[in-house]
Amino acid sequence: MTTIENGSGTKQLAGKRALVTGGSRGIGAAVVRQLLNAGAEVLTTARSATNSVPEGAGFVAADVRTRAGAEALAEAAREILGGVDILVHNAGGARPFPGSSSIPDEEWRDALDLNLLAAVRLDALLTPEMRERHSGMIVHISSAVVPAPVAPFLHYTAAKAALENYSRGLSAELAPFGIRVNTVSPGKTATPGGEQTREQWARIAPGQSDTSGVPLGRDGRPDDIADAVLFLLSDRASWLTGSSLVVDGGEFHR
Ligand code: NDP
Repeated sequence: MTTIENGSGTKQLAGKRALVTGGSRGIGAAVVRQLLNAGAEVLTTARSATNSVPEGAGFVAADVRTRAGAEALAEAAREILGGVDILVHNAGGARPFPGSSSIPDEEWRDALDLNLLAAVRLDALLTPEMRERHSGMIVHISSAVVPAPVAPFLHYTAAKAALENYSRGLSAELAPFGIRVNTVSPGKTATPGGEQTREQWARIAPGQSDTSGVPLGRDGRPDDIADAVLFLLSDRASWLTGSSLVVDGGEFHR
């Protein structure tokens, strides 16, 4: 885990207010822990409250797939944090289907709502205040699998591909206002959601889901991904915007 301090020993994100979606487990919980460790004040959300939300973080229950959920979350962030300097869109995922023609309309809509529109809506609600303050940092969590889409997940990868494209466009729009927007694309990471999805995939398509052979020899840990997020939120990334950082042990680079 990265401990981020500036030269004088002050925690580098002290005084920053961060909103992280999906912080009750997996990658989101690691991001929340690392933000707290770097001195930020953190509010997170999930649909159901659990005792696994990292200690020290604020929590508000919301479903980011809906406009009402995004509006409630933005309002809670204003009330509890007084504003948002850092926005990490982490909540995401989708369940697999045997092939593209078996993915129902409602699952396509759900995948687009969770993996694309949740970020679009929340950014639209919170970036006007960042523009006024002339500062802000946004990280969208995509997936390393986007360049190599497979049939069971076409709804998911299409939504994440759109998220990456949107993120690059947003970065260009917001750069003149001092706001940096970047994407982190995880590979196979050991999280409750990741494991559950891979089990479902193995059941519907035995053999296809075997992703052993990660060049660096192991699956990712939530902190591997959180390290990349924290780097992008640090002063060391002050000249980085519109980028996509792939953190996958080399799996999708071959
Ligand atoms: P998990 O399923 O382990 O955790 C997801 C978190 O998001 C939970 O806190 C969950 O809480 C919350 N969440 C899910 N749906 C909603 C919703 N509609 N509204 C609000 N919160 C929600 O996911 P991971 O940590 O595995 O994944 C995190 C991100 O990384 C996702 O965007 C995923 O697509 C991406 N990713 C993960 C990979 C992996 O191998 N793990 C690989 C590539 C990308 P609750 O269920 O209570 O709402």
